[in-house]
Amino acid sequence: MSTPKTAKTSGLKSDDLIVITGAGGFIAGSLVKYFHDQGFTRIRAVDKKPLPNWYQRTPGVESICLDVSDDMACRKVCEGAVEVYNLAADMGGMGFIEHFRVECLRSILINTHMIEAAYRAGAQRYFYSSSACAYNTLLQKDPNCRALKETDAYPAMAERGYGWEKLVSEMFCEEYHAERGMNTAIARFHNVYGPNGTWDGGREKAPAAICRKVIEAKDNGKHQITIWGDGHQTRSFMYIDDCTKGIDYITHCEELVAKPINLGSSELVSINELTTLAENVGGIKLKRDYDLGAPKGVAGRNSDNTMIQQILGWEPNTPLKVGLAKTYAWIEQQFKDRKAGKRTVTD
Ligand code: NAD
Repeated sequence: MSTPKTAKTSGLKSDDLIVITGAGGFIAGSLVKYFHDQGFTRIRAVDKKPLPNWYQRTPGVESICLDVSDDMACRKVCEGAVEVYNLAADMGGMGFIEHFRVECLRSILINTHMIEAAYRAGAQRYFYSSSACAYNTLLQKDPNCRALKETDAYPAMAERGYGWEKLVSEMFCEEYHAERGMNTAIARFHNVYGPNGTWDGGREKAPAAICRKVIEAKDNGKHQITIWGDGHQTRSFMYIDDCTKGIDYITHCEELVAKPINLGSSELVSINELTTLAENVGGIKLKRDYDLGAPKGVAGRNSDNTMIQQILGWEPNTPLKVGLAKTYAWIEQQFKDRKAGKRTVTD
């Protein structure tokens, strides 16, 4: 099988305008850097967060503070765009999405206005970041449940709030293609982790939270960790570099136009196993307490990568052990910086 097409090999010119929303956050911030490193010279990065609070700023990139749940703002953002990557959303780990369902649902405004603005601007491609939370939750009641394949989203019973917003936004992307011929791409991300992500404050996801807790336990000398749930719940975790590469491949694959596809790792681990990995990186063994009342999400979730393998001949493949070590090192530095009174990404 030939190598999948990318922005570079698909004919996108290096000075064509690429618009990326959510760029003050984790994944879109990394995507900006990814395209910048590929030699694209006109990137417009957008986020509603004030610029000093962005997790990463790539030098030489036009960076704008705008709220893209607003129709007029979206039109301004998409002006002249050749490709649009919409990753803006009000989101976080289970602690956030179980408590702030209204905020999650309101992200529907973002995609609704962004896709229309991209269409009006004549953008050639539109990417939407969906989530494994769009899948039917009834299929995820067991830690050993089978991996989710793309057809498992229907009949629909998505995660309350966040998952339904993703499912309906996917539908927008499908219908903009069916009715208006727009070139849309939809990836269902499964838990993304890595440096430059949220690691504290309530929106962090399990890998960052566990790394931080191990670092804190070492630092305070108590050698104890609290795990949400019974630790048997299972997930797969995708390293950020696989995510940015996958977004590029999926967006530039003709076979995947308007077709939701999993973008996730298929390396399934329990939260207990994830904790052991983080302990190993930290060189420590901790006493584990389990908070059974804490938000824990579905019992088990994994990515079935048959479709991405068949179509792209590739799947996210960074071993969790490797990615987690890099993430741990980055969070440890953030932790030290905070103690030293320096600014960190979650401040
Ligand atoms: P993030 O919270 O780090 O980044 C999202 C960014 O969107 C934030 O910086 C936020 O300020 C911005 N934003 C929110 N509302 C906005 C608005 N109205 N206008 C402009 N900017 C706005 O999250 P992330 O992990 O980088 O996630 C990026 C995308 O990927 C989201 O759509 C998310 O739902 C999806 N996703 C992420 C994961 C994951 O594991 N991180 C998993 C599945 C799906």
